[in-house]
Amino acid sequence: MGLLTGKRALVAGVANKRSIAWGIARCFAEEGAELAITYQHERFRENIEKLVPELPGGAIVLPLDVADDASLTALPALLGERWEKLDILVHSIAFARTEDLQGRFSDVPRDGYALAQDVGAYSLVALSRVLLPLMQAAGGGSVLTMTYLGGERVMPSYNVMGVVKAALESAVRYLAYDLGSDNVRVNAISAGPLRTLASSAVKAATALRDVPERTPLRRNIALEDVGRAAAFLCSDWAQNITGQVLFVDAGFHIMGI
Ligand code: NAD
Repeated sequence: MGLLTGKRALVAGVANKRSIAWGIARCFAEEGAELAITYQHERFRENIEKLVPELPGGAIVLPLDVADDASLTALPALLGERWEKLDILVHSIAFARTEDLQGRFSDVPRDGYALAQDVGAYSLVALSRVLLPLMQAAGGGSVLTMTYLGGERVMPSYNVMGVVKAALESAVRYLAYDLGSDNVRVNAISAGPLRTLASSAVKAATALRDVPERTPLRRNIALEDVGRAAAFLCSDWAQNITGQVLFVDAGFHIMGI
């Protein structure tokens, strides 16, 4: 019996095997969850279809572009054809144009700022809304998103994404209050830096190679650490935890220097 046996989880944000969302999907499958995985582009679909057989129970694979209202509103019907209820939503999605993550923060143009907010923060609100009926059908659920310390403190070159993460963390709290009456919990994991497609666009001051010597545990995290924390937060063991940002960063966020 796994921590998530009997639960159905939709995981959005797998681009390839390095994606945090893939680490979470793998761990969820090991803990007994049934999975649905979404892909943004056709070019990611092939990656996902190659990865899915690695999951013990396989996964439903569905399209989802959170910047497209038609795609968002189509999702519950597509999922509803296979599942009559949903217990867990994992949102592991962010995007900013490379040029908006470089140079001076004050130079970010209106459209780049809006795009990053739309994809990285508003999408959590929209996705929670469209999937709420399926979570209500389950008698409640758990929503989880991914954030970074750059939403609380200045990380040079994280720029507009820092502002997005601040908005995302605030959305976690407002959603936790709003959806709490439906017995839906909403939390975030603030992960330490991991080498992924999205992070390759961020030339952070804390280069990955320097992380191990700067954390209390003298090491960086691995994908599995995020997966395990996610499994806990989305399980019934965390039934009275909501509105939280849980750091999975080997303690880096407590350091003053
Ligand atoms: P990733 O590139 O593997 O994942 C980002 C995902 O966002 C991709 O699957 C991409 O397809 C998806 N996405 C972007 N725009 C989308 C859209 N319009 N519709 C649907 N999906 C869209 O990189 P990752 O590092 O695994 O990022 C996942 C999350 O984790 C992000 O929110 C990121 O900010 C956060 N995070 C990453 C790190 C890190 O160091 N890698 C640390 C903390 C938090």
